[in-house]
Amino acid sequence: MPVLQSYIAGQWFGKTESKALISAINGTTVAHTHQEEINFREAVAYARNTGVKNMLALDFQQRAATLKALAAYIQERKRELYAISHHTGCTKADSWIDIDGGFGTLFTYASTGRKELPSGNVAHEGPVTQLGKENHFNGTHILVPRRGVSVHINAFNFPIWGMLEKLAPAFLAGMPCIFKPATATSYLTEAAVRVINDSGLLPEGALQLIIGGTGDLLDHLEEQDFVTFTGSASTALKLKSHPNIMAKSIPFNAEADSLNSAIMAPDVSPEDEEFEIFAKEVVKEMTAKAGQKCTAIRRILVPAAHLDTLANTLKSRLANIVVGDPHEEGVRMGALSSRDQLRDVNHAIEQLLETSECVFGRDGSFKPVGQGVENGAFITPHLLINRNPLNDGGAHDIEAFGPVATLMPYSGIDEALTIAAKGKGSLVTTLTTKDPAIAAEMIPVLAAQHGRLQILDAQAAKESTGHGSPLPMLKHGGPGRAGGGEELGGIRAVHHYLQRTAIQGSPSMLAAVTKEYVRGAKVIETDVHPFRRHFDDLQVGESLLTHRRTVTEADIVNFGCLSGDHFYMHFDDIAAKETQFGQRIAHGYFVLSAAAGLFVYPGEGPVLANYGLDTLRFITPVLVGDTIRARLTCKRKIDQGRTSPDGHPQGVVMWDVAVTNQNDELVASYDILTLVAKRQ
Ligand code: NDP
Repeated sequence: MPVLQSYIAGQWFGKTESKALISAINGTTVAHTHQEEINFREAVAYARNTGVKNMLALDFQQRAATLKALAAYIQERKRELYAISHHTGCTKADSWIDIDGGFGTLFTYASTGRKELPSGNVAHEGPVTQLGKENHFNGTHILVPRRGVSVHINAFNFPIWGMLEKLAPAFLAGMPCIFKPATATSYLTEAAVRVINDSGLLPEGALQLIIGGTGDLLDHLEEQDFVTFTGSASTALKLKSHPNIMAKSIPFNAEADSLNSAIMAPDVSPEDEEFEIFAKEVVKEMTAKAGQKCTAIRRILVPAAHLDTLANTLKSRLANIVVGDPHEEGVRMGALSSRDQLRDVNHAIEQLLETSECVFGRDGSFKPVGQGVENGAFITPHLLINRNPLNDGGAHDIEAFGPVATLMPYSGIDEALTIAAKGKGSLVTTLTTKDPAIAAEMIPVLAAQHGRLQILDAQAAKESTGHGSPLPMLKHGGPGRAGGGEELGGIRAVHHYLQRTAIQGSPSMLAAVTKEYVRGAKVIETDVHPFRRHFDDLQVGESLLTHRRTVTEADIVNFGCLSGDHFYMHFDDIAAKETQFGQRIAHGYFVLSAAAGLFVYPGEGPVLANYGLDTLRFITPVLVGDTIRARLTCKRKIDQGRTSPDGHPQGVVMWDVAVTNQNDELVASYDILTLVAKRQ
């Protein structure tokens, strides 16, 4: 059997057999860890020197493009990973969550990075705040790469997704990663790292892999570094209180165990479609990944009147779940990831039975299907009932990390909320209700103790992505017992790996640093209209101050007739006199259109499309007789390395537009987004 290798300082490392890693399906040895000890000082130094340098030679946009290419490469080779994933006990659907879910997260972050991050390695988090009366001294925030190493210690249940969902935001942020997968399933992570390496897409030093223990790794970390952890609360506590982590205030993000609940609201009864939807969701979450999901439903809260009906419904659904080797026809649930886990889960069930009774799973008739499965790590789903859930302990404290959940009856909304809160902070809860008023009452209370809440009714069920699925665009992580961490959530996850810094100075200085025009900064005015410049030639700050135009009553009447907008403020003199303006005013949209008429260069040129406005505000009303003009300034350029549908290379240009009146008062302010051609 192969000896797994660590990937340290750009080399595969280790050749002598150590611990045997066992197939969860049939007990055969899949691989061995290696005996050789890793030099963690060298690993960290390599990431810090080679990795950081190579990562920062790329900018945000280039790293986003790399992630996309990497996602596509892994997708092409996913079959190899599926074959290995089988040994971790997974059905095809379970492997899909880990493998397709993993590269899917890379795709999502590639797109998020392209849309939401600039070119360069400084992200401006506006708006700029004016700190002085005359606009000579302003403040804003920037986000910059931390120039350190990110260390990720992962759980055994998602050997690929667990790595890629952390790689994506850390890589976008420009941080090299050192991954330490859980040993039991590290053979799958190692295979994925080999695929990533074969792609040749990541810069040297961007990724290292540890097979086995972390030795003195944490001793070598410094203030710029970052640690994430997924696993048990006890290991999280041990690692986050490591003296070096505490002494250097190294950020430590923890995702720990969570006793998630699913609540059937009091308005749902067995005749409702929602009753079946709820039962289906519970069974799906109990059995997907054999219940080894941090988000799985562990506590099922049901109105006391429906306890027996729900118990019977769940029991008959669970009886249809065939457990065994997923290669066998009809198998719906695979194995736990190791026999150690099997022992732990059985032990936790015994503890749970001190406060609960068993409805399903303990009658001794269980036999997994398949060859050699007697040496695997199979367990049947277990459904328990705790009839006194207002008491502490039991399922409120004990996590059986397998296909195990406990029914809990309640009376009234307040009692349901009290029982849910006994989880002491969870990753996710599903509330099934038909009644928006119940959702509005319960969700804000539940939200205080949860990272994510799913409201499931018949409409949502048609497209629900499921209670247990963390999504890249939504936050994953919960307070309290769930670890207090936060992952994913779109661009927020990238921000976790960047340093946010407030900067203060003159508008010109802020513009120079942020590479973004700030009002009040020096502008560049030339004889060439900015719309005639190709993307490559245009400079941030290039500006055009237009000629003037006096607004007449005919303008208002014509615009009203053209648009059909005869709002009283523009057309009813008597009503308009009673408003705060005391008279009729021009349409805001007329001001926008008139400003375009002032600044647009009409001839053919490199500006290919205008695809929208941001931050539009009408500030001072425009009255008949007012004279307006516009200043158009190149605010930001983003090079996404893209081409137009007809193959022309192009970039995104954001323009700042300020429309002023004869008194230099700002009447309208906005950003225009355009696509501008590059020189061929
Ligand atoms: P552990 O806490 O034992 O292990 C998690 C990771 O930490 C593994 O990679 C493990 O490595 C590593 N580790 C353990 N001890 C140390 C140490 N002293 N120094 C450095 N690294 C260490 O958790 P389990 O593997 O038992 O995971 C099961 C638990 O994790 C579940 O009960 C569940 O509650 C929780 N979990 C939470 C998730 C979440 O997202 N919130 C997701 C999945 C699981 P090694 O394998 O080599 O020991």
